[in-house]
Amino acid sequence: MSDISVLGIFVADISFLGSKIPAVGETILGNKYNIGPGGKGCNQAVAIARLGAKVNFISKIGKDSYGELALNTLSKNKIDTKNIIQDKNLQTGVAGILVDKNSGKNAINVIVGAPSTLKIEEIKQHINVIKNSKIFLTQLEVPKDVTLYCLKTAKENGCLTILNPAPASEITKEFYNNIDYFTPNETEAEFYTGIKITNEKEAKQAADKLINFGIKRVIITLGEKGLFYSDGEKNIYLTASSVNAIDTTGAGDAFNGGLAFGLSKEKAIEDCLELANKVAGLSTTKLGAGDAMPFYDDLT
Ligand code: ADP
Repeated sequence: MSDISVLGIFVADISFLGSKIPAVGETILGNKYNIGPGGKGCNQAVAIARLGAKVNFISKIGKDSYGELALNTLSKNKIDTKNIIQDKNLQTGVAGILVDKNSGKNAINVIVGAPSTLKIEEIKQHINVIKNSKIFLTQLEVPKDVTLYCLKTAKENGCLTILNPAPASEITKEFYNNIDYFTPNETEAEFYTGIKITNEKEAKQAADKLINFGIKRVIITLGEKGLFYSDGEKNIYLTASSVNAIDTTGAGDAFNGGLAFGLSKEKAIEDCLELANKVAGLSTTKLGAGDAMPFYDDLT
């Protein structure tokens, strides 16, 4: 029995830090680069493990040097690798990330690689991991039929489900009915609702619309502004922690990891949001995604 299971991808993040994100056709001389673990699923699993909960990560990688980086990252963070499917005929994914060192903002191109071929049949061999966890957390980086199958199985077995709907992509009504927590960022929330969010009022309008779709609880993350939560009755707005952000890559992942951790410890929603907000804020103070996740002791 684990506290949390995460389905998602691993990619090697290749980040370039410079004084700006170059425009189309422009070349700039940057400051430094970093190759480290990334992929929303892996980042979220690492965040949870570093906070101290037992997490199972289900994914697929190739048998190449970036696949080795994946296995080393998981082992280093004390995450079991028995639910990682490895296929020697496929490539492990990579992401090219351009980071503006002044704001920490980024532009990303992800090549998913091996997990883009994930099939329900393969996942069935690992489904007990999901069935036996308290919380199931996933995103939209693996094929949608697999994601929906896992969300439905999780719900049928009494798990609490969190869908981080990123990258934004069309989902059916069946998805909405199997989600307890839906955690888009501002741009994703706009994609799903058509409402552009620039203030708290618009965040509430978007959250109300999502709740009308059949989702139980919505958390819209608002970058350096913080977050907005609604369950249709209770609304909570939290400002972001005041930190010196140098790279916001993976901030949403840190947030989702913190949320899943808090929920697995059965904390009140207010405490879960505060914790997730803090974890996410701290993750922006270091370069990289997986490697930038804070440890529980860093929170105090
Ligand atoms: P994503 O990384 O998915 O685009 P956001 O940019 O909305 O998600 O960030 C997720 C969370 O990370 C925010 O809700 C906030 O808690 C934290 N965060 C992001 N940027 C900053 C920042 N500059 N300063 C402090 N916290 C931040």
